[in-house]
Amino acid sequence: MPKDGNMIQNETALALKSHLTRIRNAFKANPAPTANERIDRLKRLHNAILDYKDRLIAAVDQDFNGRAEAETLIAEILPILEGIHYNQKNLRSWMRQSKRSAPLMLFGSDIKVHYQPLGVVGIVVPWNFPIFLGISPLAGAFAAGNRAMIKGSEFAPRTGEVIQAMLAEYFSEDEVVFVNGDVDVATEFTKLPFDHLVFTGSTQVGKIVMKAAAENLTPVTLELGGKSPAIIHDSFPIEEAANRIAFGKGLNAGQVCVSPDYILVPRAKLDAFASAFAKEISSSYPTYVMNSDYTSIITERQRDRLLDNIRDAKDKGAEIVEINKGQETFDTGRKLPMTLIKNVTEDMRVMQEEIFGPLLPLIPYDTLDEAIAFVNDRDRPLALYYFDWDKARAEKVIRETHSGGVCINEVMTHTMVDDMPFGGVGPSGMGHYHGHEGFLNFSKAKGIVRKGKFNATSMIAAPWGNRMYDLYMKFQFKRFRKHK
Ligand code: NAD
Repeated sequence: MPKDGNMIQNETALALKSHLTRIRNAFKANPAPTANERIDRLKRLHNAILDYKDRLIAAVDQDFNGRAEAETLIAEILPILEGIHYNQKNLRSWMRQSKRSAPLMLFGSDIKVHYQPLGVVGIVVPWNFPIFLGISPLAGAFAAGNRAMIKGSEFAPRTGEVIQAMLAEYFSEDEVVFVNGDVDVATEFTKLPFDHLVFTGSTQVGKIVMKAAAENLTPVTLELGGKSPAIIHDSFPIEEAANRIAFGKGLNAGQVCVSPDYILVPRAKLDAFASAFAKEISSSYPTYVMNSDYTSIITERQRDRLLDNIRDAKDKGAEIVEINKGQETFDTGRKLPMTLIKNVTEDMRVMQEEIFGPLLPLIPYDTLDEAIAFVNDRDRPLALYYFDWDKARAEKVIRETHSGGVCINEVMTHTMVDDMPFGGVGPSGMGHYHGHEGFLNFSKAKGIVRKGKFNATSMIAAPWGNRMYDLYMKFQFKRFRKHK
C-alpha cells in the first residue's frame, strides 16, 4: 500500500525526534564540555571545511546553476574559517565565570555569572548562503558547548548533501546531525523542543517558525530579511559611492540578505549615479549569460518573481534600465541583468517587498532629514548604508535610524566582522550571533549567589522591627532618598 502524506509526515517527525533524543541524551551525559572539548570540535569543523572546500564550492555552483568560486570563497568559506578561529581564540575567556557586585543585603557574598551550554541548538538554513548560514551558527553553538541539528534548504539540495556527508565524517551523530528536506521536513523540524532555535530566512516564514517554537517555549534567534537602504550624501563623490555599492550589489546577483535594496540619491545626482553604477557593473561583468563570475538566480520561481516585479514597476510608470544587456538573450537559464529602476512609486512591488536579486530602485531626495524620514517610515531594515566623509553627520544617521547593523562608506561587510554582533531588529529579526554575542546567545547566563560563613541577612531577620532591621531600613532609605 503506498504511503499517504500523513504517514510520511509522521515518519519524518519520528525520525527527527529520535535524532533529537539521541543528541540530547549525549548532551546530558556530558553537560559541561571543557574548553578543550569545544576547541576539538571547532578544530574538526575547520578541517572538515578545508577537506570539503572544493566539493562545497562545486555543489553550490550546481545548486545555483552557476556561482563563481570566488563568491563562495569570499562570502562563505573564509568567513566560516575566520569565525571558527575567532571562537577558538576567545572561548576560554568567554567561558570564565564573571564576577558581579552584591547588593547590601548580601554583603560578603560572592556573586557570579556562570555561562552554561543550553543543550541542543536547532539551525534552519536558507538557500542563498547555504554553507555559511548553517556552519557559522554551528561554530557559535559548539563554542558555547552545545550540540546541534541543522536543516538545510530544499533549494540547495546538493550543498545539503555535501554538508551532510562532511559532518557525518567529522562528527558523531551524537554531536551534530544535518537533515535535508522540503517545507514538510522544515515544519516538523521547527516543532522540535530544541533548547534554542536559529532560523535564517524570510520574515514571513520567521513568523511561522516563532509560533512553532512558542509551543515549546524554545528561545529563537531570527535572522530575517528586509529592505536595506543606502543613503548617499550630497557631498560624497558619486563615482566612489557607485563603485562601492556595485561591488556589494553584484555579489550573488543581489541575493544577499544585506544587499542594498534601494538607494536614496541626492536629486541632482541621480543620473550621475545611474551612469557611474552602470559603468562599474559593466566593468565587473562585461557579459552575463556565459560569464561564470556572475551568479544565476537560484530557481525559475525566483527569476519569475523578479521579472514580475520589473513588469509591475514598468506598468506603474517606472523607467527600467537594464545595464549592459547588449545582445544577450536571457530566455533560457536563470541569469538576469543588473537592472536600475527609476521613477519608483510606493505602490510598486519593488518598494513593498524585499528585492533579493539584481534590481535596484533609485530614489531621489532633497534633504538628509527627508532621507532619514523615508527610512524611518518603513520596517526597520537588517542593514543601513550611509556614504559621507563627515563623521558628525554619519553619527546623526546612526542615532536617528534603526537597523540591524550599519556600514559607513561601505556596504555589507559588517557581516564579516566576528568581533561584533550580527542580527536584525523588528521585522528584520531578533537576537544576535557571531563572536562573543553568539557565545552569549547560545549559553544560559546563570546567576549564582555564594554565601560564606558570614550571614548578614540573619541580623535583620524576623521578628521584624528589631534594632538591626531598623538601622538597615534607615540606612537604605537615606541612600535612596528622593532626587532633587
Ligand atoms: P525561507 O524563509 O523561504 O526559507 C528558509 C528556511 O525555512 C528553509 O530551510 C525552509 O525549508 C524553511 N521553511 C520554509 N517554510 C517553512 C515553514 N512553514 N516552517 C518552517 N520552516 C520553513 O527563506 P529563503 O528563501 O530560503 O531565504 C531568503 C530569505 O532569507 C530572505 O528574506 C533573506 O533576506 C533571508 N536571509 C536572512 C539572512 C540573515 O542573516 N538575516 C541571511 C540570509 C538570508
